[in-house]
Amino acid sequence: MPDASRRYDAAIVGGGHNGLVCAAYLAAAGLKVVILERRGVVGGAAVTEEFHPGFRNSVASYTVSLLNPKIIRDLDLAAQGLQIVERRVSNFLPISDGEYLIVGEGRTYDELAKFSAKDAARLDDYAASVDRVAEILRVLALETPPNVVEGNWRMAWPELLRAARIGGRLAKLPMAARRDLLTLFASSAGDFLDSWFESDPIKAVYGFDGIVGTYASPYAPGTAYVLLHHVFGEANGKKGAWGHAIGGMGAITQAMSKVAAGRGVDIRVNCAVREVMVQNGRAAGVVTEAGEIIHAAAVISNVNPRLLYQQLMDSSALPADFRERIARWRCGSGSFRMNVALSELPRFTCLPDAGDHHSAGIIFGPTLSYMERAYFDARMHGWSQQPIIEMVIPSTLDDTLAPPGRHVASLFCQHVAPQLPNGGSWDDKRETVADLMIDTVNSYAPNFKASVLGRQILSPLDLERIFGLTDGDIFHGAMSLDQMFSARPMLGHGNYRGPLPGLYMCGSGTHPGGGVTGAPGHNAAREIIGDFRRRRLSS
Ligand SMILES: Cc1cc2nc3c(=O)[nH]c(=O)nc-3n(C[C@H](O)[C@H](O)[C@H](O)COP(=O)(O)OP(=O)(O)OC[C@H]3O[C@@H](n4cnc5c(N)ncnc54)[C@H](O)[C@@H]3O)c2cc1C
Repeated sequence: MPDASRRYDAAIVGGGHNGLVCAAYLAAAGLKVVILERRGVVGGAAVTEEFHPGFRNSVASYTVSLLNPKIIRDLDLAAQGLQIVERRVSNFLPISDGEYLIVGEGRTYDELAKFSAKDAARLDDYAASVDRVAEILRVLALETPPNVVEGNWRMAWPELLRAARIGGRLAKLPMAARRDLLTLFASSAGDFLDSWFESDPIKAVYGFDGIVGTYASPYAPGTAYVLLHHVFGEANGKKGAWGHAIGGMGAITQAMSKVAAGRGVDIRVNCAVREVMVQNGRAAGVVTEAGEIIHAAAVISNVNPRLLYQQLMDSSALPADFRERIARWRCGSGSFRMNVALSELPRFTCLPDAGDHHSAGIIFGPTLSYMERAYFDARMHGWSQQPIIEMVIPSTLDDTLAPPGRHVASLFCQHVAPQLPNGGSWDDKRETVADLMIDTVNSYAPNFKASVLGRQILSPLDLERIFGLTDGDIFHGAMSLDQMFSARPMLGHGNYRGPLPGLYMCGSGTHPGGGVTGAPGHNAAREIIGDFRRRRLSS
């Protein structure tokens, strides 16, 4: 018999926010849970760290909207001190020396009318049409997708019911919304936005959401869905709004961690899992890097599916077809991330004084065709000489991050090649590309470069090394239609269950995908609790 102290109902591999959420729900259902986290801190890609003496920032994930309100309520994260504040305006797009667009509540109409009165007149219809479809996604996010099963009608029946429930919901939509839904699920962000608007700046601001964390042209089919994925959230009840967690993204995961610990979850950091143990054809626990054996009725993976199945499991334990297909799981979001410590705020040539625009998501990438070129350039050369960057300066909303009068900024740079062409290493190119990113911002705000007091650079390779993100993929796998919903991470395993009894997945590589949503963790916990209740798992 295993040592009872090392025997758990559930062992969670990875303490990202989804692992923490899953653990908190499992513990609330009375299960004995352990989280095993490789790093010295839980939170995964949602952490706050000091990256330069005296300067702290959300070093990877940096802005909040997708975190599901039910999860915030169920875990009572506010009681743990979580406070989310809204940006003063949503987005700022510097265009040229004299031109810019600001998008934000009560401001977008007048701002857009500077470029096109016709576009301004279409704004409300656009917002309503996108929101109608986003509403469907909000509901589906907390549901388990119908699983595609083999076998007799008994196995298929519950899944057919699930599918029928979703179908019934869609059937209630007016025809116009059903058409929008098809467009948003199947077409490109570029085509979708071209069908609504004529002026470039608004298409660039909205189109950025279609390529964020997605290594593709904004005209690639499927990017309209990525756009939708970035508007289905809310900040403080405001649909589609993005905000900032005081203390950074780590404040979210520290609050989750306190809730989980308070419910009795054992949280172990600096405790990497080396292997998932398989006994008699089922997952039976894990072996840590230090060689410790931890037995558990359910092993739940919070890591990228390819990492789990290719590196943490004996491949002979997996069905051959599963093994081959998971090797093809497409990863590599083409993201390059920098944190910079600043002596002063950037003075934009087009809008030099300090103002609301400094609290916005500041997008460098003035047109969709610029964004498309950036992608093709990166495919050819590894990165684009004219890169796309979103810069957020959270210290304009939060004085806990930088010394008084100083600032921190997140630079989220899109479209660098996950693997450099001709076998180059990111270790050799990191500084060059970082300089290019700084120069790019500097070309819009000429005091920027001189204001940088320190910088942290995270290439795709660094994202993999530090955060365990396979090929630097921020979403644990591309969010293309072939890798979404029932097919995330594979048809037949879209219900958080792996190919062996006792093996589950709760990370962003499952429905509804990436982002700090908590939804995969929430949904996986519901399935696992159900399996304990149905006695498919036993303590
Ligand atoms: C640069 C960047 C910017 C982003 N920006 C945003 C944003 O602004 N807003 C947003 O909503 N989303 C953003 N995202 C996406 C979002 O952060 C992720 O989708 C989300 O955090 C993933 O959460 P997770 O819990 O599924 O997995 P992760 O956060 O990846 O957690 C997995 C955990 O598993 C651990 N682990 C790995 N291997 C092992 C092992 N062998 N043993 C034990 N532990 C292991 C890792 O250390 C990690 O802690 C961003 C991501 C990145 C990287």
